[in-house]
Amino acid sequence: MTTLKHQAPTKKIHSFHPPQRTLMGPGPSEINPRVMAAMSLPTIGYLDPVFVEMMEELKSLLRYAYQTKNALTFPVSGPGSVGMEYCFVNMVAPGDRVIVCRNGVFGGRMIENVERAGGIPIVVEDEWGQPCDPQKLEDALRKNPGVRVVGFVHAETSTGVQSDAKSLVQVAHRHDALVIMDAVTSLAGTPVLVDDWEVDAVYSASQKCLSCTPGLSPVSFNDRVVEHVKARKDKIHSWFMDMNLLLGYWGATTRTYHHTAPTNSLYALHEALLLIKEEGLENCWARHHRHHLALKAGLEAMGLQYLVDEGARLPQMNAVHIPQAVQSREAEVRKTLLTEFNLEIGAGLGPLAGKIWRVGIMGYSCKPENVMLCLSALGSVLSDMGLPVKVGEAEGAAHHAYAQIHAQEAQHARSKKVANLK
Ligand SMILES: *Cc1c(COP(=O)(O)O)cnc(C)c1O
Repeated sequence: MTTLKHQAPTKKIHSFHPPQRTLMGPGPSEINPRVMAAMSLPTIGYLDPVFVEMMEELKSLLRYAYQTKNALTFPVSGPGSVGMEYCFVNMVAPGDRVIVCRNGVFGGRMIENVERAGGIPIVVEDEWGQPCDPQKLEDALRKNPGVRVVGFVHAETSTGVQSDAKSLVQVAHRHDALVIMDAVTSLAGTPVLVDDWEVDAVYSASQKCLSCTPGLSPVSFNDRVVEHVKARKDKIHSWFMDMNLLLGYWGATTRTYHHTAPTNSLYALHEALLLIKEEGLENCWARHHRHHLALKAGLEAMGLQYLVDEGARLPQMNAVHIPQAVQSREAEVRKTLLTEFNLEIGAGLGPLAGKIWRVGIMGYSCKPENVMLCLSALGSVLSDMGLPVKVGEAEGAAHHAYAQIHAQEAQHARSKKVANLK
């Protein structure tokens, strides 16, 4: 018998029981019990014919979510950051010049990815909280002929701003450049129309509006991107993320071992996407919009102001300025929300740290009880800290917004009925 060199930890260790939290930050979002149940089903082999059948369904559900016919649509094993890296490492060869539109944290990460793939980034800057400006992209492409790849973030989670993806793609295509679009926070929360907008490469993540467990990154490449990657003379600089090798496992015809697929996580994603299909994608977008309006009414009733202009706001990511009077104690506010109300909201990042809060209503977290809890909890904490917030006022405003939406919906349903009778 061998003696162990390293003893088991002496500290008494119990099973880990995380608390039940209300998740209203920048992700992860809450998870439907059906998704958790799917995840706990028996593990089977990643080449099991039953599993392979599920993979095909998963791909078709993803094409629905992305609104695309792209054959190459599948979840990469790894978080959203891996999906980002997958796009850049496959599409950018050493020496390539790549334009990145940056208006927040995640555009910055795209620049990092270009550099690490050996590319030369050309950065088009916009202010944090502003959408990416298609005119600035146009100018940059004119100044830099021959650029083959452009990257931008559709929904900047760090600020809650949404860029006009369709226009940005049109500009890039006029200059014969392929587009990489980050749809991590937008997918399923707000329209992402990959084929209509002619987005060439797109990636997302499982834990935001898809409301699945973290650790999977759905990606989609159109044929132009597949050709572009296949035409490369050099080896892709990542073995794990090499599109050509991954296709051996996820492709249409072959199923050969590449890496051990995270089977149970994939069951979960299948179920999460099925829930979206059952609800209907348009209804899912409408739900995010509806609860955003109620949340906004409540936050504004408390005197909190949005960072982003109305036309470019993401419904699922609500960034508001922290009132001057509590800026120095903003971490305390979030801590109290977490410990007293089991509620998580997001802090600001980078230059916006300590300046904004980010309230997410993503996927399964996007429901009236969360909107009401958030308004009630935040109102009570801010009032305790001496801000001129009347407890209950925000909930009243949200209630009023819901009533208005319901009245509009009823009116809409009535006129539709009349139109059908005619
Ligand atoms: C969350 C996020 C990512 C990174 O996803 P991870 O799953 O955390 O790796 C990338 N881009 C955007 C816009 C995000 O919100």
